[in-house]
Amino acid sequence: MKRQQYLVIGLGRFGTAVATTLYQLGHEVVAIDEQEENVQRIMNQVTHVAMVDATDERALAAIGIQDFDVVVVAIGADVKANILTTVAAKSAGARYVVCKAIDDMTRRVLEKVGADMVVRPEHDMGVRLARKLVRPHSFDDIDLGNDYAIVEVHATQRIEGSLRDLNLTNRFGVQVIALKKGSQVRITPKADDRVAEHDTLVVVGTIESVEKLLNYAENT
Ligand code: ATP
Repeated sequence: MKRQQYLVIGLGRFGTAVATTLYQLGHEVVAIDEQEENVQRIMNQVTHVAMVDATDERALAAIGIQDFDVVVVAIGADVKANILTTVAAKSAGARYVVCKAIDDMTRRVLEKVGADMVVRPEHDMGVRLARKLVRPHSFDDIDLGNDYAIVEVHATQRIEGSLRDLNLTNRFGVQVIALKKGSQVRITPKADDRVAEHDTLVVVGTIESVEKLLNYAENT
């Protein structure tokens, strides 16, 4: 993987986790915060640190913000500083800005002022946990965006026959990407492959279409 350059702004728990993990994964990470103790705490765990007020556009330009592949604005509770920093980062030439929002209203404002991606860690993690509890076999570590999922569907009597006859793509809008028969796995199965009760299908689709298929399979 190409070594990327990241700028992480705001070194609370979230920003620190993002910055140190990117560094551990072999990337170049500059981490900044306006508080000296936060900068000191992380200095041996990233490439460079700096004490900067990130709402200051000229200060961001001075650290070469336009040279970073991704800028992460990890300021949460101080909504004003979060928004001003995002505006300053975009105005100073940041290419791709990912922001943390504490609520939906802040997310909308951040998108309006130019954030390329907004995450809501508490909300997003809550949604993922709930889905995982209900569907333990969904592969939610593969991020397809919030509207899509890859799940395992256990074939019941209602899901038996060749993939051609089952016609799951047209009926439910899902794509079968693997078929498991006991310990055997068939990747990208063919239309003639037959599904029997107790086989497992690995399918990808929108949450809605996947739910429809799961409900259909379970409603014996
Ligand atoms: P956590 O990430 O710990 O869950 P949080 O997202 O609420 O919490 P905050 O404590 O609000 O995090 O702030 C994150 C960091 O951002 C703090 O270390 C704070 O010093 C820093 N910060 C806030 N405003 C600025 C700013 N204008 N410039 C640079 N850093 C800032």
